[in-house]
Amino acid sequence: MLSDNDLLAALDGEADASVLAHLEACPCCAARAALLMRFERRLRGCLTRVLCPPTLTLIDYSLRLLDPSQQTSVAAHLHSCRACADELAQIVAERTPKYRVVQAP
Ligand SMILES: [Zn+2]
Ligand SMILES: [Zn+2]
Repeated sequence: MLSDNDLLAALDGEADASVLAHLEACPCCAARAALLMRFERRLRGCLTRVLCPPTLTLIDYSLRLLDPSQQTSVAAHLHSCRACADELAQIVAERTPKYRVVQAP
């Protein structure tokens, strides 16, 4: 799985070839990049939300890619932050079913 920095670099056109090759081959990371492109741009520069998790963290939360302690802390934040709860709802709505991550048993 690509790192946050790799995904952001890809969106900025600054990723190296191996990152772009991974995005072509990996539906999971391609989905994360697509969601990040939609949501990160909109929110970048919003200084009132410095305490909120980055957009990609919400995306990964929605895909259940965070580790359990992070899932818990994001869930706690979502209870107290209307902006993030709204954003997560939009992320979930945008997410196409074919990219839904299959959990290992
Ligand atoms: Zn990947
Ligand atoms: Zn928040």
